[in-house]
Amino acid sequence: NKRIKVKELLKQEPAGQEVTVMGWVRTFRNNQFIALNDGSTNANVQVVAELGKFDDALLKRITTSASLKVTGTVVPSVGKGQKLEVKAATIEILGDSDAEAYPLQPKKHSLEFLREKAHLRFRTNTFGSVFRIRHALAFAVHQFFNEKGFVYLHTPIITASDAEGAGEMFRVTTLPFENTPKNGDGSINFKEDFFGKPTNLTVSGQLEGELGATAFGEIYTFGPTFRAENSNTARHLAEFWMIEPEMAFYDLEDNANLAEEFIKYIIRYVLENNREDIEFLSQRMVDEEKQLPQDKRSEMGLIEKLEFVVNNDFQRLTYTEAIDILKESNYNKKKKFQYPVTGWGMDLQSEHERYLVEKHFKKPVILMNYPASIKAFYMRMNEDGKTVAAMDILAPGIGEIVGGSQREERLEVLQDKMKKMGIPEEELWWYLDTRRFGTVPHAGFGLGFERMIQFVTGMSNIRDVIAFPRTPKSAEF
Ligand code: ATP
Ligand code: MG
Ligand code: MG
Ligand code: MG
Repeated sequence: NKRIKVKELLKQEPAGQEVTVMGWVRTFRNNQFIALNDGSTNANVQVVAELGKFDDALLKRITTSASLKVTGTVVPSVGKGQKLEVKAATIEILGDSDAEAYPLQPKKHSLEFLREKAHLRFRTNTFGSVFRIRHALAFAVHQFFNEKGFVYLHTPIITASDAEGAGEMFRVTTLPFENTPKNGDGSINFKEDFFGKPTNLTVSGQLEGELGATAFGEIYTFGPTFRAENSNTARHLAEFWMIEPEMAFYDLEDNANLAEEFIKYIIRYVLENNREDIEFLSQRMVDEEKQLPQDKRSEMGLIEKLEFVVNNDFQRLTYTEAIDILKESNYNKKKKFQYPVTGWGMDLQSEHERYLVEKHFKKPVILMNYPASIKAFYMRMNEDGKTVAAMDILAPGIGEIVGGSQREERLEVLQDKMKKMGIPEEELWWYLDTRRFGTVPHAGFGLGFERMIQFVTGMSNIRDVIAFPRTPKSAEF
């Protein structure tokens, strides 16, 4: 198999060299010009089947989405828009396709339509670009942490802990449906479902990650996470990927510094290595926004936005300062928020987060020191006795992309907190052991990978940046 990928081929000089290309037909014009795509780039290579050289029976089978193997010579192209083309010597049909039955006709389809054809949408330019960028971001994540000496720890998918205490877990059972243990009233008895113990799919690898950090110093997890979100928003999935670094000897500021450096690093990686795909998506966004009135269009193009983010400091402020800004804002006074900002202690809604980043600061924001009452049990209590060392990072167009904190390392303070929140110590005895045996200050955060990809690609719906979205309405394959 001496196949050359289209991306590599298009970089060469057209000097009559012999090549083999394989891919899927995008279009076939004038019984002569085949636009062939192999997924390595959105660009097609033009294959020329000289008139009279191939028999009609073969030419009839060259239809949109049929797969071909072509051998030929690389020559300069006289057509505009391409430097070279392949003059075909042989054309072999690898797989026929009934072009009329093919769901993706060669025209523009809406993203909603393509979501219903999720099994084929990788073959479009938009999804080609999105998923090559997703790949590159994943690679950059590992490269970043590897360069810094973090250990990649695989935390469990099936677990007994509910890190967030938000009750959004999927239960895991080993029992066949008909043998599901029932309570007296006929409801399912979850206490006996996994070999006799209650278990669920992980909502976060953090607690287990802390076990790694208090041995290796610095670790990260990068894996699938599950939340029984029964909400249909453009930023929530029931199955998503999360990157969770956890670091011993870090305080909240170290944590924020690492998160900011990390986000800039992976964006820079894509700007440098996926230029074509970013440019394609940038142009796509401009085209999409042409339908919107001027004041609804983005102020910056995608590339401009990403370059701005990597070259400027994120805005840092406290929750208390944010509440003051929001309360005094014209939006609040003119009742433009669905949830009015009443005062200190309330949880921020995404409309508030987006106001801060999009209208007020016009850059990513790191919000710190939230009221203890609205955050999870493991966050470190500040000296004021009211706030915890939490941080959320908010991005323009998305809202929350990171949630993190310095963890409570003081055993008594943690035990006291758990008691107040009704979390039994027996459930987390292993977690408390890290505080019993050589406890250290430590911190970490979770970055939602899909939200990051949304930010980098400009895709507005989270269902369009994961290959097989799991939402309350979709789990077909
Ligand atoms: P949100 O407020 O948006 O529901 P969260 O505060 O519940 O998010 P965390 O528990 O802080 O989320 O999880 C860390 C990160 O994981 C979030 O900052 C976000 O980027 C991502 N995330 C959380 N829930 C989802 C989800 N259902 N789908 C996709 N990403 C998610
Ligand atoms: Mg949530
Ligand atoms: Mg949140
Ligand atoms: Mg959060």
